[in-house]
Amino acid sequence: MRLLIGGITLVILISLILLIPLATAVDYDNTSITLKKTPQFCYLTEDVTLGTISFLALHEWEKQLVLNNPINWKMDIKQITSMNWNECNVIIQFVEGMENPLDLGKTDLNENEALITIPLNHENKKLSSGDLLNSLTHELGHSMGLGHYNSGVLNDSDSIMSPQFEPFKNIILQITLQDVLKMNEKYEEGFQ
Ligand SMILES: [Zn+2]
Repeated sequence: MRLLIGGITLVILISLILLIPLATAVDYDNTSITLKKTPQFCYLTEDVTLGTISFLALHEWEKQLVLNNPINWKMDIKQITSMNWNECNVIIQFVEGMENPLDLGKTDLNENEALITIPLNHENKKLSSGDLLNSLTHELGHSMGLGHYNSGVLNDSDSIMSPQFEPFKNIILQITLQDVLKMNEKYEEGFQ
């Protein structure tokens, strides 16, 4: 028994030593938006592929959130043909290129609405569906209230909210436990 307690103490000590540098290095902030019950996401495009990418990105968020904690994470998504803020909390639009050509996406938001803009091209090259999916999954995180996950590591796969990713590498970024836990911290009882 004493040996067991000693072992547990040792494990706790080791965990603490390992956790201290992690806890100080990682910074995961929030954005000011808080979505209400059954938020309505809308994609402003008639392109079937872009509509499917929008659906898949949002569905992945809902799936990962429900798998981890089956509370109310219900979200709706539909197509719109004009910028209609009466029916939508979050609007996704696709553009040929960004004002800042280095941006792979951006989200403008206030407390209850967000506009996501995703470029179809980067440095004059057409982005793949996978890269569009990566950008949109990240921007959807912002639109739900997540800020950036800053660990100081470039291309950190620990979070979909890591601020940088390199396109044209055939990489699909994943929503991680870090992201799901951060959502649960913000929405303790899901969308209310
Ligand atoms: Zn971002």
